[in-house]
Amino acid sequence: MTAPLLEVRGLGKRFGGVAAVDGCSFGVQRGTVTGLIGPNGSGKTTLFNLVTGYLRADAGQILLDGRRIARPDPARLYRRGLCRTFQQPRVFPDLTVLENLLIASGHRWPALAGPRARAGDRAAGEALLAEFGLAALAADPAEELSYGQRKLLEFAALLMSAPALVLLDEPTAGVNPTMVRTMERHIRARHATGTTFLVVEHDMGLVMRLCDPVVVMDGGRVIAQGPPGSVQTDPRVLDAYLGG
Ligand code: ADP
Repeated sequence: MTAPLLEVRGLGKRFGGVAAVDGCSFGVQRGTVTGLIGPNGSGKTTLFNLVTGYLRADAGQILLDGRRIARPDPARLYRRGLCRTFQQPRVFPDLTVLENLLIASGHRWPALAGPRARAGDRAAGEALLAEFGLAALAADPAEELSYGQRKLLEFAALLMSAPALVLLDEPTAGVNPTMVRTMERHIRARHATGTTFLVVEHDMGLVMRLCDPVVVMDGGRVIAQGPPGSVQTDPRVLDAYLGG
């Protein structure tokens, strides 16, 4: 078997006396939509922040495509094809919807200067907005978008860098059922064209439909992993969720 696209080995992070992530090991195989679930406080967000370079681990290793990342840094990881979203979508509110995509192209501010925007970036941005149903809003400031639309925009913007691995942090939290379906459709479409995903999500119906395998954390550790059907009936998982 080839090396996982992303692997964590014995990862650990303490906050004072709390072991938020406590010897966590698992891999994300290329071509999967891997789910990461667990009760509140089980360490999912901390793990995401470690893997994406927003926090520094106290212990363990992170490997991307079989190569150890000594000092994870968000910008460097972005250039190596690893992108993430946030629970609260991060977009530039004062920029237009299209500019939010252009700035994500990696060609810096000059790309925003209207006619000086690289034609390729502009075309790629416009194609993504069409794909995500946001084309009619291209010239509107991002702050005018609904919460769900901002989540879509954040997702669309990170695709400007053609990432190999996308980490989604609760992609459907706080959005309406129609938007849940829309988000699911976009994840599936991108998965079908070769993007690998690691998804933290509380909507169990969505996790069971979308993710395989599913990794379950509790108390900072991986307590189960496997196909959604087997994880769902695992006594350790039921116990964790029922507070046993
Ligand atoms: P999850 O995302 O699964 O809800 P978190 O990673 O947010 O879990 O939290 C794991 C544990 O670490 C919790 O006990 C939480 O209170 C603690 N924790 C997370 N971030 C911090 C922080 N910045 N300072 C102190 N404790 C934290």
